Amino acid sequence: MLIVKQLSHSFTNGAEVTPVLQHIDFRVEKGEMVALLGSSGSGKSTLLNLMAGLMKPTSGSILIGGQPIETMSENRLAEFRRTHIGFIFQSYELIPHLTVRENVELPLVFQSVGPRTRRERALKLLAQVGLADKSELFPSQLSGGQQQRVSIARSLVTMPAIVFADEPTGNLDTKTEREIIDLLHDLNANLGITFVIVTHEHEVARRTQRIIQLRDGQLVEDGGWAGEAG
Ligand code: ADP
Ligand code: MG
Repeated sequence: MLIVKQLSHSFTNGAEVTPVLQHIDFRVEKGEMVALLGSSGSGKSTLLNLMAGLMKPTSGSILIGGQPIETMSENRLAEFRRTHIGFIFQSYELIPHLTVRENVELPLVFQSVGPRTRRERALKLLAQVGLADKSELFPSQLSGGQQQRVSIARSLVTMPAIVFADEPTGNLDTKTEREIIDLLHDLNANLGITFVIVTHEHEVARRTQRIIQLRDGQLVEDGGWAGEAG
């Protein structure tokens, strides 16, 4: 599903070069739910953004479903992202003047899917995230946890091969955090969605099958609680 090969990244600011990631190698199989742990500033968001094609790496390669994304043209990559990759942000990133349903439909608008199909798919996903009765409200009328559910529904509406989440529970209280992680778990178990979830909360990571940890720009693979080796 996802293969990362010898991935390195540095930020360049004038003459100043900040190396962030060094020779990262790992792979994620279809249907896995992986937590990416690391302290603040360890490069988690950078790695996630590179894997989701939101940034180009300094060197190395990222394959999603066998396709290297770092060599794609801008247009091809934008199209690939729209059809194969889902992304969940810590801050939800919902459009305030669109209803909950319209927000979930939005990725399908960019795929030129017709209004009837869009509506059906959006409503189905909203039911799956427990928001069937909120579809015609605006984001500001929902709690933080509910807004994150909308954002999760939006990330899944195109049926992506893999979904990346950057600290999806970072703005939520502990109880809501648990509910969101339960939801991601259910979506992984029931729909087979592959998730890579960035977190610095060990509680979140503990709930996934597998944990990989970033330290000093390198990956420390911990295996995980369900145990790859077991
Ligand atoms: P994390 O998500 O683990 O907190 P980040 O990936 O956001 O870490 O950042 C890793 C390092 O890269 C930090 O030292 C940060 O300051 C630096 N960094 C991140 N984005 C940029 C950027 N656009 N330009 C320069 N440095 C950056
Ligand atoms: Mg981050």
